[in-house]
Amino acid sequence: MTRLMHRSLLSTPPVATSARGIEIFDADGRAYIDASGGAAVSCLGHGHPAVLDAMRRQMEAVAYAHTSFFTTEAAERLGELLIEDAPEGLEYVYLVSGGSEAVEAALKMARQYFVEIGQPQRRHIIARRQSYHGNTLGALATGGNEWRRQQFRPLLIETHHIDPCFSYRFREEGETDEQYAARAAGALEEKILELGPDTVLAFVAETVVGATAGAVPPVADYFRRIREICDRYGILLILDEVMCGMGRTGSLHACEQEGIAPDLMTIAKGLGGGYQPIGAVMVSGKIYDAIRAGSGFFQHGHTYMGHPMAAAAAVAVLETIRGDNLLTNVRAMGDLLDERLRARFGNHHHVGDIRGRGLFRAIELVEDRATKRPFAPARKVHAAIKKEAMARGLMVYPMGGTIDGARGDHVLLAPPFIVKPEDIDRIVERLGEAVDAVIG
Ligand code: PMP
Repeated sequence: MTRLMHRSLLSTPPVATSARGIEIFDADGRAYIDASGGAAVSCLGHGHPAVLDAMRRQMEAVAYAHTSFFTTEAAERLGELLIEDAPEGLEYVYLVSGGSEAVEAALKMARQYFVEIGQPQRRHIIARRQSYHGNTLGALATGGNEWRRQQFRPLLIETHHIDPCFSYRFREEGETDEQYAARAAGALEEKILELGPDTVLAFVAETVVGATAGAVPPVADYFRRIREICDRYGILLILDEVMCGMGRTGSLHACEQEGIAPDLMTIAKGLGGGYQPIGAVMVSGKIYDAIRAGSGFFQHGHTYMGHPMAAAAAVAVLETIRGDNLLTNVRAMGDLLDERLRARFGNHHHVGDIRGRGLFRAIELVEDRATKRPFAPARKVHAAIKKEAMARGLMVYPMGGTIDGARGDHVLLAPPFIVKPEDIDRIVERLGEAVDAVIG
């Protein structure tokens, strides 16, 4: 009998009792390979000694100090480290406790920026369908996942959605990368013109789409065009790298591979590697300066922002990624994972697409490969695969299709950056068995 309100009220998950490296163990002694890093969180795996040491030291020095009274060495160090490797123009860091908080803060900061510079008429947020930006009301309103939004719609702020850049689903027959990038980015300009350019606040997008559609990278040039359009109309570009950032795609920030930088960028998940709840907004000098010169105070704040334990853990995670040269492993193991997935599923009659970057990969499952017709959502293929994978000692992160058929079920893989070739083989082998058990 549980007194906890679990995610599903119909079942209780296994009890995790210990975790080391890429594995989590349950109370019955069963081992599970963490091939999804939870939800793309555990980038260093579990029980990493450098992070545990840093947390222990911080806990003994000062476990908590409210940010309206104090800053801490850990938080200051984290700010410095993040800015040393930041995309161009991002010069300040605002610490929060997770991804949704980071998105809320970014939206409010964008709004306050325009109020400070005398453009209070800017209020429209444009984002994309097939996106996820968090579960708090502002972030939920921004995300374009109808299934998550539906019953809360009366509570959501007004937002506007355009089609994502999603080659497998939205590229037209015969369209080149360049043509598709122009058309997909053009949808933003059309929406801006429809709303009135001087009423638009920000465009929000995941650089590589995560939870909702499954590791969908943009086509080349899409974000360069998006950046240009935002600049043309004086609109802020907010990139949400909560899931795809912090090394997951093979570069510290996913936008590096697009050759652009946003005005605001949200990060979380891998920032604390799961050792502590932490998120951040990386802020351009332009926005910081406007708020500093205006009211001098960002009208926001949470009790646990800048938590010293969380900051200390994040510093240790970042220093480990750097010191152990883990991004090189992310790229090499990412290539190997892609190769193995293609070998195992390339001819599978229910795998429509294999995609992703670095150690951020997904397979999309369809009833019919030729027409890309998804499985009926009621079949819950993704949930069945998760169950079969868990029964084989494998954690993967599957998600359902959409009622309108805009995408099928997918399985997301996001293993820790420390994986070895033999781990990749075991992951793909077990995933193959789980997929075949459900839709073989
Ligand atoms: N943005 C993106 C892109 C995410 O993937 C997530 C979490 N899946 C969030 C925001 C919300 O983060 P959190 O769950 O930490 O609030």
